[in-house]
Amino acid sequence: ATMEKVCVLGSGNWGSTAGKIVASNAARLDDVASEVNMWVFEEQVDGRKLTEIINEDHENPKYLPGVKLPENLVAVPDAAAAVSGATLLIFCLPHQFLPRLCASIKDAAAPGARAITLIKGFDVDDDGIVLLSEYITAQLGMPCAVLMGANIANEVAREEFSETTIGYHHEANGKLWCRLFQTKYFRVAIVPDPVAVELCGAIKNVVALGAGFCDGLKLGNNTKAAVIRIGLLEMRQFTQTFFNGAGELTTYFESCGLADLITTCYGGRNRKCAEAFVASGKSWDELEAELLGGQKLQGTLTTIEVIKAIDKAGARGNFPLFTAINAICFEGAAPSTLFDNLVHDDALV
Ligand code: NAD
Ligand code: 13P
Ligand code: CA
Repeated sequence: ATMEKVCVLGSGNWGSTAGKIVASNAARLDDVASEVNMWVFEEQVDGRKLTEIINEDHENPKYLPGVKLPENLVAVPDAAAAVSGATLLIFCLPHQFLPRLCASIKDAAAPGARAITLIKGFDVDDDGIVLLSEYITAQLGMPCAVLMGANIANEVAREEFSETTIGYHHEANGKLWCRLFQTKYFRVAIVPDPVAVELCGAIKNVVALGAGFCDGLKLGNNTKAAVIRIGLLEMRQFTQTFFNGAGELTTYFESCGLADLITTCYGGRNRKCAEAFVASGKSWDELEAELLGGQKLQGTLTTIEVIKAIDKAGARGNFPLFTAINAICFEGAAPSTLFDNLVHDDALV
């Protein structure tokens, strides 16, 4: 059997947590090289290089403070060097930095390498939606599975029990990724429905903005539950509309579906910034910089892509919640308009 070699691409809040999980498993698994490289976008933290801090102190104090990282997780500042010889590539960085990374690691991986993406987002170009897994496959010529779930990174990093979902195109790869990620505190389910898994993970961040608007408006539990429920339906509608009826209903009951929506709408960064957006009137860039300590928002970027896809199809009427969230985010609509189109006028008799 071949010896697998793992590289984690990204070292933010979730990237560092993914590095912790897979490095601990790589140490344990006989067919996986114990040393795991993690590409770190180099920066100075407290007057030291972040890679140096991770390799000497085994902690990422900027993006995952207070969590011990395994000593076999090695921070590497050069992406091509980090990937060199790797057979298993784990993509976990903010969506907006993926194109530059892919360009920098072309041909660096071992022949036959496989990828998995933990990134939440997608792009819309002239031909329609490009999933990030498809983008990675197109750029690097390797299959790409997806991992999405109710996984707020700090909680997973503290080893509090949670679940996740891996969507695969090739069953053997799904099983391999499951072995690499599963731990006693991180329960992995694998499903042959990668498109729905990936879109659930991306679009739930749009719904999370809606949940944050509810909090900013000081509304109660019923309203947020309604936003979550209607959001889930629009997520499914979106996947069916733009991917030819794709998506099994059961996938929405995996961790990547309803469960990720719940955790994100109560505890996520998108929720937090959207709440502050209502109260402060500040821009998204200001809120990201002030509230997230260098971490990145993905929901606002995804909202732009979601509305692009909906507009290409002339389908705003079928997505009243997503349309309202976009209008509040980017068209100056008042947050209280979130609910304006959720009950049809002709039903108000
Ligand atoms: P993060 O939000 O902590 O972002 C910070 C990372 O971005 C750092 O590693 C930083 O070095 C990097 N970065 C900053 N500028 C850069 C540049 N110019 N080029 C390259 N990298 C740069 O990142 P994260 O939380 O690890 O998120 C990665 C992905 O995982 C996102 O799509 C996110 O939605 C998703 N995700 C996050 C969580 C979570 O709880 N944090 C959970 C599930 C999924
Ligand atoms: P936020 O980016 O809104 O914090 O969501 C984290 C997440 O994706 C949990 O699974
Ligand atoms: Ca090993």
